[in-house]
Amino acid sequence: MRQSQLFPKTKKEAPKDAESINHKLLVRAGFIDQLMSGSWTLLPLGLRVVAKINQIIREEINAIGGQEMLMPLLHPKEIWSETGRWDKADEIMYKLSDVRKKEYVLSFTHEEIVMDLLRKNIRSYQDLPAIVYQFSTKFRNEPRARSGILRGREFMMKDLYSAHATESDLMEYYEKVKKAYIKIFKRLGFDFKVVEASGGVFTDKHTHEFQVIDANGEDTIFACNKCDYAVNKEIFEGSGGEKCPKCKEGKTEKLEGTVEVGNIFPLGTWYAERMHVYYTNEKGLKKPVWFGSYGIGPTRVMGTLVEVSHDEHGIIWNKVVAPFEVHLVELPGGKGEEIYNELTASGIDVLWDDRSVSAGEKFSDCDLIGIPVRLVTSAKTGEKIEWKDRGAEKSEQMDLEDVINKLKK
Ligand code: ATP
Ligand code: MG
Repeated sequence: MRQSQLFPKTKKEAPKDAESINHKLLVRAGFIDQLMSGSWTLLPLGLRVVAKINQIIREEINAIGGQEMLMPLLHPKEIWSETGRWDKADEIMYKLSDVRKKEYVLSFTHEEIVMDLLRKNIRSYQDLPAIVYQFSTKFRNEPRARSGILRGREFMMKDLYSAHATESDLMEYYEKVKKAYIKIFKRLGFDFKVVEASGGVFTDKHTHEFQVIDANGEDTIFACNKCDYAVNKEIFEGSGGEKCPKCKEGKTEKLEGTVEVGNIFPLGTWYAERMHVYYTNEKGLKKPVWFGSYGIGPTRVMGTLVEVSHDEHGIIWNKVVAPFEVHLVELPGGKGEEIYNELTASGIDVLWDDRSVSAGEKFSDCDLIGIPVRLVTSAKTGEKIEWKDRGAEKSEQMDLEDVINKLKK
């Protein structure tokens, strides 16, 4: 892609109301735009990053049998009344009514919608398990939408739902999801903890949150300094003491500054009982299905990546989510077009700065946008190309062929 055509161009200044790092850098670099508090456009660069995050999630969820689909965003009041959540979740919901006074809510989660699908389609134990997921928009009336794209009033979620015949089937699958999430967050490059949390009003089982260590994060967890044991505040206070109950050697220490990027819930039969989702087991008996739901916020993930990987000049993307693989800077006398064509023909995704602006402006845009590899071609580099990793001090001169080989590795 030619940078001269990229929409929009970078900005010198961050918006005045921007408090968080991800807000400042993602807006300046042209990844996101704020329509109103908590409401964001994913601009072309931002959508590229989110698409890569989603693809990593998709691969790991497909590997544990998830089937991707897409559910509506506008839901009738009646379905949310069946579980009582129309009233119980009132604060977080965006409710609306049409000219005929029919009431609706904008999707803030999809358990009830999946339950409706299940009761229409599940008859016997042979129809279970049913494992479905989607990437779609959630609307939540968040009181404090101040952390840039980390907390939107409208945001993207990957939500997975699973229905099973027995509690042990559910818990076996729950463990599979936990492992898949660990793979996903490792692939994304996060330093994170799997944190035990209480289930709230919908399950008496423990849930698990995936919390990324980030000094600016809003959450606080308690983690053992010797093993991987980690819990939220509620469970820590209930556990009565600092001695780690898991390894019995370490100390459970307070870790202030984490961001929740994922959360998994073994919900049990609460939903099935209220929405009458029963199946017939091998003995011909009617039983409620065992249900779980599992979320990741890809837009929050993008913001968190920026929070944990940047410097005073801009963003530092890792290879797996960067919007382009290389940023090719053409200075006077360089062979921009020739190199761009060769790289593109080799299947490499290039952002080519073909604009007639100063070298200084081009270099500062590279640092701001944060593509992991910067290549420079100029009269000075001649037949060679200068390679510099984002965040590195040193650069090296290379042949085009070596550049391609190194990128393909
Ligand atoms: P939080 O405690 O941060 O408000 P939550 O526990 O209400 O989040 P869940 O219902 O568990 O969120 O949603 C699953 C995932 O969706 C979260 O782990 C997070 O990655 C993402 N998410 C939740 N709320 C938001 C939001 N307002 N903006 C962006 N992503 C969000
Ligand atoms: Mg949560």
